[in-house]
Amino acid sequence: MRLANIRLNGRTRAARADGDTLVVFEDELTDLLRRPGWPDIARAAGGVRVPAAEASFAPLVTRPDKIICAGLNYKGHIAETGRPTPEHPFFFAKFPAALIGARDDLRLPTVSEQTDWEVELTVVIGQPVRDVSAADALAAVAGYTIMNDVTVRDWQHRGPTWLAGKTFEATTPLGPYLVTPEEFPPGEVDLELTCSVNGAQMQKSRTSDLLFGVPALISYMSQVITLLPGDIIATGSPSGVGGLMKPPRFLKPGDVLTTAIEGIGELRNVCR
Ligand code: ZN
Repeated sequence: MRLANIRLNGRTRAARADGDTLVVFEDELTDLLRRPGWPDIARAAGGVRVPAAEASFAPLVTRPDKIICAGLNYKGHIAETGRPTPEHPFFFAKFPAALIGARDDLRLPTVSEQTDWEVELTVVIGQPVRDVSAADALAAVAGYTIMNDVTVRDWQHRGPTWLAGKTFEATTPLGPYLVTPEEFPPGEVDLELTCSVNGAQMQKSRTSDLLFGVPALISYMSQVITLLPGDIIATGSPSGVGGLMKPPRFLKPGDVLTTAIEGIGELRNVCR
């Protein structure tokens, strides 16, 4: 099942993909995920149909309780940063105001010229989970989506923690679809992920290059805090970020940022 969150007649509402059309529900996706038995509700729900090509995609989850992001979690990316391999997963956070939809304009900060890209496989949590083992962690996954963890590099590195450079308003596309786990082979997903700027490929990797996979990340954070339906866990960026290119490359007004993951879809955002 493929679910979206779209803007229709002044409201944000969840929808289920049915071929090239979207069947629109009453609930917004964040609220749908908080209803017990939501997969059955989503499978059965009917409503207005809109062509997917004409839909206005909202951020996939607009009101997550938490946006948790793993840093330095692809072996190739750790190598390009020259940093030591982390012994434990490493996390930072974003705030919901950073999120934009799959085709929304991306608002470049006026205070920096170092806005960079990071394609990331992103997990949405589908049921409350605390102190879960890695072996049982995948049962908590509602589905998989795409986030570009757009990062303002100079602000990221002004201090020892990364928050400010990671959560500029209206910089972080999330979507377009929540693809539920039964759409993929059982176990950990192994998917190709890419990021392009104006059609030129900047990042290309597979999620099999993750240092800590999805079960390990969920298990680790569930020892800290209860993960709730609608919580977002971005699993980290592969190599190919602009700030580490020689010379460095960053996003400019008018650039088209395309962020894609096999089996999920793509984000296409114009920088303004
Ligand atoms: Zn990242």
